[in-house]
Amino acid sequence: MHDTDTPGGEVTGHSTGRCLCGAVRYHVSGPLRPVIYCHCDMCRRTTGHFGAFTAGDRDSLHLEKADALKWYQSSPRARRGFCGVCGSILFWDAPATPSISIAAGSLSKPTGLRASEHIFTESAGDYYHILDGLARHPRWPAAIPVVRKNPGRLA
Ligand SMILES: [Zn+2]
Ligand SMILES: [Zn+2]
Repeated sequence: MHDTDTPGGEVTGHSTGRCLCGAVRYHVSGPLRPVIYCHCDMCRRTTGHFGAFTAGDRDSLHLEKADALKWYQSSPRARRGFCGVCGSILFWDAPATPSISIAAGSLSKPTGLRASEHIFTESAGDYYHILDGLARHPRWPAAIPVVRKNPGRLA
């Protein structure tokens, strides 16, 4: 396990990640928030299932290799980063906030992270059930205590 795990599912140390083909590689030098599952329509379509994102300060995200990194403006306030070679989903970024969301599946194990809740469950797909006992929110909740600052919605 990560030597800086916390009971709340955050990690405070160094994390690394990459896309499937390796054309985009990054590391994170600061804390990461617990993973939030997002069932909004945009996350479902772009991931093929539902979103699973952690988040950290944008300043702590360091792109080591980003030649193939592409951005798709998915809403007026946010863009989604993906690998233009293999299509891996990597980032959700709202430039007006100081944090950036990172697709949890792109992180290398062990991540030390835990999932904390589900959001936008009112938009969830109709072919699966949410049975893990984590908190569920129909949309973006008014307050997510585990998010330290500027969570931003994953939509
Ligand atoms: Zn790739
Ligand atoms: Zn979403």
